[in-house]
Amino acid sequence: MTKIDEILQCAIEAGILDSENRWAVFFDLDALHSRFHRLQRAFPADACHAVAIKANPLVAILEQLVDDGAALEAASSAEVQLARRAGADEIVFDSPAKTDAELARALDMGVYVNADNLDELQRIDRLNPPADARIGIRINPVVGSGDIEATSVATEASKFGVSLVHKQRALLDAFEDYSWLRGLHVHTGSQGCGVDLLVEGVRRCVAFAEKLERRLGDRRIDTIDIGGGLGVAYRPHAAAPTIEEYADALRDTSPQLFGRRWSLITEFGRWLHAPCAFAVSRVEYVKDRPRGPTAVIHFGADLLLRRAYRPRDWYHRLSIHDPSGEPSQRDETHVTIAGPLCFSGDVIADSIRLARPATGDLVVAHDVGAYTWSMWSRYCSRHFPRVVGVSRCEQTLQFETLHSGETDADLVAFWEP
Ligand SMILES: *Cc1c(COP(=O)(O)O)cnc(C)c1O
Repeated sequence: MTKIDEILQCAIEAGILDSENRWAVFFDLDALHSRFHRLQRAFPADACHAVAIKANPLVAILEQLVDDGAALEAASSAEVQLARRAGADEIVFDSPAKTDAELARALDMGVYVNADNLDELQRIDRLNPPADARIGIRINPVVGSGDIEATSVATEASKFGVSLVHKQRALLDAFEDYSWLRGLHVHTGSQGCGVDLLVEGVRRCVAFAEKLERRLGDRRIDTIDIGGGLGVAYRPHAAAPTIEEYADALRDTSPQLFGRRWSLITEFGRWLHAPCAFAVSRVEYVKDRPRGPTAVIHFGADLLLRRAYRPRDWYHRLSIHDPSGEPSQRDETHVTIAGPLCFSGDVIADSIRLARPATGDLVVAHDVGAYTWSMWSRYCSRHFPRVVGVSRCEQTLQFETLHSGETDADLVAFWEP
């Protein structure tokens, strides 16, 4: 990843952070290329990597991924359209609330559909799927929760998939009833799920595939979709498993997955995108409060929704740079960083050690490339940010617009009938 101070200094020279434009997001496109290539190398060459659009739906970024050989995973029918817009050849459709019309359209377009539940299989059956339709069912391997409840989806209480514990018989029957059903899908969770938990979820899915094949005789399962879920290290000294370690652990526990027996689909989001971006805002005001200085900046709970609402679970490293982009040389003190929204919970760091901020300084939030602008909040009608792509050509940094940001007119139009 290119050094943040260098990007900031070039961006200021290029007029990207001027007196009118007080904040922006920078996305390192080279870093994304290299992470996607690592993913490709860690898995068999013919695996299909359907990147989770919901982590980062910017079309220019989806296009880059598709050019690099990615498929795309859609969590809604609009995300299917985003995938088509980005030119994806292969699209995986995973919404838990697909309507009849959405299912019919997806099958018509040759999209790979993962049904979430047994009722959805009945609906698909009524649509008479073509013989070459690619359809799987999401199972819940019931391996339990990771560290963060809200991103753990393989608990007994999960709203997703069909429980391998409670509904196994019905699942076996569904495969006997529906000859078009030939895929299994598992996604154990996201940030906070360790490699052991993710690997165990996949192991149970693979074991179930083998059991099914024994039962079905000459009919085969043709695809196993192992979902995504690999986390990243948001905290300075946190250790996070690498994609290579995860793939090796899968190879150890489920070697069949790496043979030619089934087509393999993955659905990573966070691991690919999160480290590729940072957000930066000018400090608009500094308030002296008994607890120490509070810097008011231009993003908060609108961009870093999870951090603001669930501060115990979520974290983004912050740093302070002087107005020219150099790391601040001022002494450290206890600093609070507050967002621009009109509620007192809009705080993204509460009394943490940082260089004393001054008006005009730059506050950088690191590792914001996943589940940030895709969760953008409309509250207080603040502008969706400008997102700038950064890449290096020979020695020079190049900037390109990945999203031009919103204007007042865009926001007024949004709230109109
Ligand atoms: C969100 C999601 C993903 C992506 O998860 P990451 O943690 O971003 O890798 C993949 N598959 C499904 C079904 C999901 O809901």
